[in-house]
Amino acid sequence: MTEKVLVVEDEPSLQETLAYNLSRQGYKVEIAADGQTALNMAREIHPDLIVLDIMLPILDGYEVCRILRQEMNVPILMLTARDDEIDRVIGLEMGADDYITKPFSMREFLARVKAHLRRVRLIREEVDSETALVRETIRFGNLTLDLTRREVLIDGKPIAMKPKEFDLLLYIARHRGQVLSRQLILERVWGWEFIGGSRTVDVHIRWLREKIEPDPQNPTRIITVRSAGYRFEG
Ligand code: CA
Repeated sequence: MTEKVLVVEDEPSLQETLAYNLSRQGYKVEIAADGQTALNMAREIHPDLIVLDIMLPILDGYEVCRILRQEMNVPILMLTARDDEIDRVIGLEMGADDYITKPFSMREFLARVKAHLRRVRLIREEVDSETALVRETIRFGNLTLDLTRREVLIDGKPIAMKPKEFDLLLYIARHRGQVLSRQLILERVWGWEFIGGSRTVDVHIRWLREKIEPDPQNPTRIITVRSAGYRFEG
C-alpha cells in the first residue's frame, strides 16, 4: 500500500524539493500551498502523514494543526523557520508530533518521515490484532485504559487525551513498576530521537498528571525518579 504524504508549504522551491524527494522514496505526495487548502485536502485524501509549515497564507500551521487534531489521528511533522523553543512548545500544545527546523538536511527529514509512518503502521497492526481478539482493557484502580478504542476512563468517564498522551500512558502502564528513562520513553513512544529532547517527555508527563492524578502536584500514579526518569505505579 502506497503511503500518502500531504506537504503543506507555500514556498515553491521547498515544495518542489520535498515533493521530489518524498516521491523518490515511493510515497504518494499531495501539495497544499495554504492552510485552508491543507484542511480541505486532509479531509478528502486522509493522508498517512502531514508535513506542515508554520508560516502559511490564510490559516497558519498552528491553526491547521489545532483543527486537524480534533478531526483525525494523522502524524504531523511541523517545519519551523527558526530554532525557537516557543514555536515547538506551541506546536506541541496544538498536537504536532514532531518538528524540524529550516534549513534541514533532506536525509534527516526523510528519516523522520519514515520513522513516523513506521510507528503508525505498527500501532495500526497492533490495534487490528487486538480488535480481532477481544476488547482489551487495562485497569489500575479507577483508571482504565481501553486499548481497542484508545480511550482512557476515570471512574468510567472518558478523559480527553491527545494521541501522544495515550501512547505514552500505555507505554509506561505496560511497564508498571519499572523506572523508564526519558531517552527510552522518547525512543519507544516517539520512535526516534526527538529534537526537543527530554523536555517533550516532561511536558507530556505533566499533561498526563493533570488528567489522571487525583492531586497533580503530588503525583501518586506517575512518580519522578530523580536523575533516572519516571515510574508508573498504577
Ligand atoms: Ca511558509
